[in-house]
Amino acid sequence: MSSRPACRAAPRTGQLTANPSKLDLMARERIAELDGRGLRRRLFQTMNAPGQSAMREGRALVNFSSNDYLGLAQDPRVKTAAATAIAELGAGAGASRLVTGDHPALNRLETCIAHWKGAEAALVFGSGYLANIGAIPALAGDADMILIDELAHACQIAGTRLSKAQTKIFSHNDMADLERLLRTERPAARHCWIISEGVFSMDGDLADLPRLIELARRYDAWTMIDDAHALGVLGHGRGSSRHWGVAPDVQMGTLSKAAGSYGGYIAASRPVIELLISSAASFVFATGLPPGSAAAAEAALTIMMQDSDLCARPLQKAQRFCMAAGLPPPQSSIVPIVLGEAHAALEASAALERQGFLVTAIRPPTVPPGTARLRVTFCADHSDEDVDALAQFVRTQILAHRAA
Ligand SMILES: *Cc1c(COP(=O)(O)O)cnc(C)c1O
Repeated sequence: MSSRPACRAAPRTGQLTANPSKLDLMARERIAELDGRGLRRRLFQTMNAPGQSAMREGRALVNFSSNDYLGLAQDPRVKTAAATAIAELGAGAGASRLVTGDHPALNRLETCIAHWKGAEAALVFGSGYLANIGAIPALAGDADMILIDELAHACQIAGTRLSKAQTKIFSHNDMADLERLLRTERPAARHCWIISEGVFSMDGDLADLPRLIELARRYDAWTMIDDAHALGVLGHGRGSSRHWGVAPDVQMGTLSKAAGSYGGYIAASRPVIELLISSAASFVFATGLPPGSAAAAEAALTIMMQDSDLCARPLQKAQRFCMAAGLPPPQSSIVPIVLGEAHAALEASAALERQGFLVTAIRPPTVPPGTARLRVTFCADHSDEDVDALAQFVRTQILAHRAA
């Protein structure tokens, strides 16, 4: 096989065309404005390898920004499962699952997810983002109400906007505020949904699920929990419902993080899943997840089920880091270091990169203005030496300056 790329590279950003169109002028103006506020985003080609090693611009870095919490994206068993499924079933699903794209690797994967999540049934979507923007409008209509945590993920917010339900935002993890809304607003609606993340993706803290579900029961509401960062990490790998010993009505998750592959899922009762099959637009009108991704996710879930020591490791690494860096104990594998302005986070990230650590700066609109941060994530296959070296640098070079 030839290694020469068939497509020739187009001129990259920065190269100006002689006669910019009005559209290009508009785009350039807006990019310049983002640049000025430290909010322009750029792509950096990264080659990920086993052991959270990442090659960037010819340099080997230790990746502390990966959501591949168990290292399974690089696991030979997972890669082989993907390759075998591609050989047997093809590279793509070829159509929507309701047409001819419902290949056998999807059915096996859904059985596996339902079992692992303790749900009656599960439905796989093209991604976690697609799962939320499809399931939320399918389940909440115009006579209904959605109460959503202010820090809920962008795709939960997008799904909420796509639904015609009346929406109220409650303060982050503030169960008193949620109860106030349930008391004052709930009675006007037909059905009411409470939407939250299990582990908050940019803060690493946990929703108080027992209290949230107790409130839902008391005020006749249903709960939908996005568990993207809890699968494989909390509750012996089963996620936050197992961690707390509770059962949300709908559990959403992704196969793109600890499961090392790609795709999203909803786990719920059989009737709810049947409803989504017929009415979630991002399921009905999108092509099925490719066989390789489905088989890789199934292999990864199988490893999770057999290896609870592996699932315990990301949190252990985060605990080790926080202790050594002088930070409060973590609740998950995600540790935020809030620095304030976007430029401060970018500078800290650049300083870390010079030491060989890849820690991406997270800026608005991903996080609220004034809370730009380093978001450090810990994975099962980080070495203790790398964790300790990172903690030492963060404590002496970053937190020391933050305090000043
Ligand atoms: C990553 C993420 C998603 C989206 O999942 P993808 O599979 O990457 O589309 C949804 N919700 C949360 C909380 C996430 O962190």
